[in-house]
Amino acid sequence: MAVPFIDLKRFEPGFLVAWQDKVAAMSANTAFMGGPEIERLETRLASASGVAHAITCANGTDALQLALRACGVGPGACVLLPDFTFWATYEAIVNVGASPVTVDINPADLQMDWELMRKACDLHRPAAIILVHLYGWGSERLLDFRQFCQERSIKLIEDGAQSFGTHYRGQSIYKGAQLSTVSFYPAKVLGGAGDGGAVLTDDADLASRIRTLANHGRASHYSYDLVGWNSRLDSLQAAYLNLCMDHIEARLSSRRLTADFYRSELSPPSIQPPEGYNSNAYLYACIHEPAGRERWIQAYQAAGIGYATTYPGSISEQAGAREHLKDRVGGEEAVRLSRMLLNPPLFPYMTDAERSEVVEVRP
Ligand SMILES: *Cc1c(COP(=O)(O)O)cnc(C)c1O
Repeated sequence: MAVPFIDLKRFEPGFLVAWQDKVAAMSANTAFMGGPEIERLETRLASASGVAHAITCANGTDALQLALRACGVGPGACVLLPDFTFWATYEAIVNVGASPVTVDINPADLQMDWELMRKACDLHRPAAIILVHLYGWGSERLLDFRQFCQERSIKLIEDGAQSFGTHYRGQSIYKGAQLSTVSFYPAKVLGGAGDGGAVLTDDADLASRIRTLANHGRASHYSYDLVGWNSRLDSLQAAYLNLCMDHIEARLSSRRLTADFYRSELSPPSIQPPEGYNSNAYLYACIHEPAGRERWIQAYQAAGIGYATTYPGSISEQAGAREHLKDRVGGEEAVRLSRMLLNPPLFPYMTDAERSEVVEVRP
């Protein structure tokens, strides 16, 4: 039996019928923009995240660009980001006209390194830092990052594309952030029927700026306070996400069950979330010597088991980084780990038989 890396088709009983009924009713009313589904989703996102405001938008990359623009980050500004993340984090900084500086990661938690971040701040006086909550958990120094940025008036944007459902010290990881972002790309933990994203914040002024920027800078229908763009989330997309929110706890529990099983049964060593985190189990992080990883990849391939190598390279070594990268503070760990990480299958409602099959593979 083959086990895919991810299978998004394991819908709860009745889910697809409920979705088809929604599409039929909303289509009959041409309820395609704004309206109650968007409002309900934003209310639920804010409450699940312990924040005052959730603003939905077109995707997780736009969410980062909206957050940067809303706090005035643009040409001339320097922004720090971890050297190990999805490329969109880098793109968002370049797309608003700012200059990115990569900071190496801490090999213990895979997140931006605290000491190197401070060094990068001394060297570059950044206007903002994008801290990415990679793999479904966050930094062991999360609260130190927040306090440091608060004290120095540095905007701290938390890229939470991968961390919906993650808790730190008993509360949503998004709670207490200046600004954080979510992606609803289908493979993310709260995945849509297409693209989507959101920005979360407690700050009412930032929230209102973000809402304006995401809707053409509109003050009213034909008057404009800002130059924004169209980054609205479709109402159908919001309706789908509302249906997913009804099942999010069950999906998270199922993911966590698989991660716990891997932790006790998988033979290769792994990197685990730091103390205080209840991960959403977005990805499981096995770690190998590079040659060993190749042998494990071949074993998974021979057994028909899906896998991923998230991510196979660092940000600063990408060809697309050359033109815009202002500086690279460290980066050796990001490169080293990118050759060592291997992710086994992990998605909601994996069966016991599938979990067992994965842990029985040997190179
Ligand atoms: C997925 C992802 C994004 C981008 O989200 P999209 O919705 O695909 O635009 C940004 N940052 C990280 C860390 C991601 O994993």
